[in-house]
Parts: sequence; structure tokens; C-alpha cells
Amino acid sequence: MKILVTGGAGYIGSVATEVLVEQGHDVLVFDNLQLGHREAVAEGAAFVQGDLANPADIESAIAGFKPEAVMHFAANSLVGESMTDPFKYLNDNVVNALNLLRAMDDHDVGKIIFSSTANLFADPEKMPIDEGERIVPGSPYGESKGIIERFLHWLSVTKGLRFACLRYFNAAGATEVHGEDHNPELHLIPIVLQVALGQRESVSIFGDDYPTPDGTCVRDYIHVRDLIDAHVLALKSLDEGNRTYNLGNGKGFSVLEVIEAARKITGHEIPVVMAPRRPGDPATLVASSERIREELGWDPKYAEIEQIIETAWAWHSKHPKGY
Ligand code: UDP
Repeated sequence: MKILVTGGAGYIGSVATEVLVEQGHDVLVFDNLQLGHREAVAEGAAFVQGDLANPADIESAIAGFKPEAVMHFAANSLVGESMTDPFKYLNDNVVNALNLLRAMDDHDVGKIIFSSTANLFADPEKMPIDEGERIVPGSPYGESKGIIERFLHWLSVTKGLRFACLRYFNAAGATEVHGEDHNPELHLIPIVLQVALGQRESVSIFGDDYPTPDGTCVRDYIHVRDLIDAHVLALKSLDEGNRTYNLGNGKGFSVLEVIEAARKITGHEIPVVMAPRRPGDPATLVASSERIREELGWDPKYAEIEQIIETAWAWHSKHPKGY
């Protein structure tokens, strides 16, 4: 298939591109390189530097490449940042997505895989969280993804667009060639590994008074490769109907448990410092992924937190300064 990947120079988009190329698809990466890295664009994919903020950029990329489907990764995805800069999220995640959707509509691109988030579930009634859970965004970031999810529904009703909304819990880990490289780094696992590499003195724990067994936040970590396998399955299944899936391993690990696992893997003591809660963080987020397992036969290969951290550690050890 011809697939346009927005944000294909970023963490998750780069792994998607790697896997799609490996499977023989014809891929065009569209990325403004503000957060992404040119070196992260997988070999074998075409690349165009463009910005979704400029409708003409995405319009001409789509007109020239004529994709059959889009995987839309380009977005801001920091809960904390969205609490201090909500307009950035309204603009980059909502207005820019509108520019993409309009260009797709103008050129009859009928399929999209949309990166959504567990931050839709700030006040879950049941844990693990399944797709029937009510949507209560935890931050402007979550809200920005929820708005597009709803709008995809209406574009499907009015225009026949086929979509998959994939709500990522905590993507982590690396392939042999692609890993996580943010500047500044704000995510737990890469920060912990930077401590192990001697690049930081310690890791701050954002809150130890949550209603969880050890007081620190519990998250469901899913390997980025498993996450992308879900994208490929979802794309293949769109002819039969739209899809909405929660994607996680179904097992929660606290911040302290993640750090303990990283200590074992790296052999580094990884000192910690207690810090205040980070606004917008729910106490516990664990996914039920029963629906995608049953409907599409999705079967994650990296179910253990140790396996996930090991792959991230291998990548960070090989790329201590990132790309
Ligand atoms: N976290 C932390 N210290 C850090 C970074 C993250 O305690 O330096 C916590 C954060 O509060 C959250 C969990 O680790 O409970 C995972 O955060 P991350 O930013 O990796 O992903 P998110 O859950 O925001 O998608």
C-alpha cells in the first residue's frame, strides 16, 4: 500500500515507518523535524519536510504521493506541557489535524490510523480500562485527542472516511535501529536510563502520595513494536469497519517498580528524589486490550517490563547522545 506517515521522524512514527517498509509498503514520511530527527526516518522510505500548520505543505505532499492511507503520528504529547500551554495543543493537535483531514478529503484519501491516548481516561470507573469507559480527558492534551476522535466519527458518517483510533497507554522500548530521543527528555524510562548512563544524577518521582500500592503512579507500558503491529492489523481491517482500541499490556507498573527493573537491567543504583505531583497525571492507567486481541488477533510479544526496558537500554547504550 501507499501510506503517508505524519511524524515519521519521531519516536513512534519512526518505528511505524521501519515496520511498514519492512513489510513492503511504499511509505512517504511527512515531518517538520521540530521534534523529530532526519536520521530517524527509516531507510527505504521517502521523506518530505513539511509542516501541518501550512495547509499547502500537506496538500502538495498528498497530491504528489497519492496515498491510500495515512498514519497520523505528528502531534504534541506531553500531559504536563499541555497544562501550562493549552493553546499549543489546541493548535498543533486539533487545527493541524484539521489541515491534514481536509487535504485527505480533497484528494479522496479514505483511510486514517489516528494516534490517541490513555489520557482520555482521567476518572475511570473500572480498571483495566476498556473501550466502553466514559471519556474524561485528564488534560488539554487528552482533550485535543478526544476532539479528533469524535470528529473522525462524523467524517465517517458524512464522508465515508474509514478510521482507527488507537489509544496508546505508555509506549516504551526500542527496535534495533529506532528508539526514543526527545530534547528535553521528559518520559520516565529514557530519563531513568539517562541516569544509568551517567547523564543525570537522579530521577525525580512526581508524587508518592497517590492511592496506589506504593504511592507512585501506575502505568501500563507497551513496547513500541507491539504498538505498531496493532497499527498494521488495524489498517488491514478497515475495509470491514472503523476501529477504536485501547492498547496496553493489561499490567500496571508503578514508577518505583519501573526504576527497580531498570536497576536490575543496568546494574546502576539509579538514585531517586521525591518531587511534587505533575499536574494532569491520573493515579493509575491500565488498559484492557481484550477487544483488539479478540477482533484482530493482536498478540503483544513484549509483555514484561524487563523486556521493554532491555530493548530501550540496548538502544540508549548504542546511542548515548540520541540520533
Ligand atoms: N514520571 C516521574 N518522573 C519523571 C518522569 C515521569 O515520576 O521524571 C512519572 C509520571 O508522573 C507518570 C509516569 O512516570 O506517572 C510516566 O510518565 P511519562 O511522562 O513517561 O508518560 P505519561 O504517563 O505522561 O504518558
